[in-house]
Amino acid sequence: MKDTTKKEIKVQIDRSLCSSCGMCVTTTPEFFELDGDLISRVKNNPTFRDLPILEEAAQNCPSEAIKITKL
Ligand code: SF4
Repeated sequence: MKDTTKKEIKVQIDRSLCSSCGMCVTTTPEFFELDGDLISRVKNNPTFRDLPILEEAAQNCPSEAIKITKL
């Protein structure tokens, strides 16, 4: 049987697209924060279990700067 418990995801911010609106930080502060340049960055190493909330954040990003890759 295939082990599905090891699925992971990679979440990246395209710094050239992020407009510093802060929406992802406001709605999902457990996984996003603004860095010193006021560009969003990912924190707390999200896992596959967190995918729904991260996909929602990506869909709500007005700049489409949040990229999620399923590994
Ligand atoms: S919602 Fe998108 S544009 Fe706004 S801070 Fe987050 S990554 Fe940047």
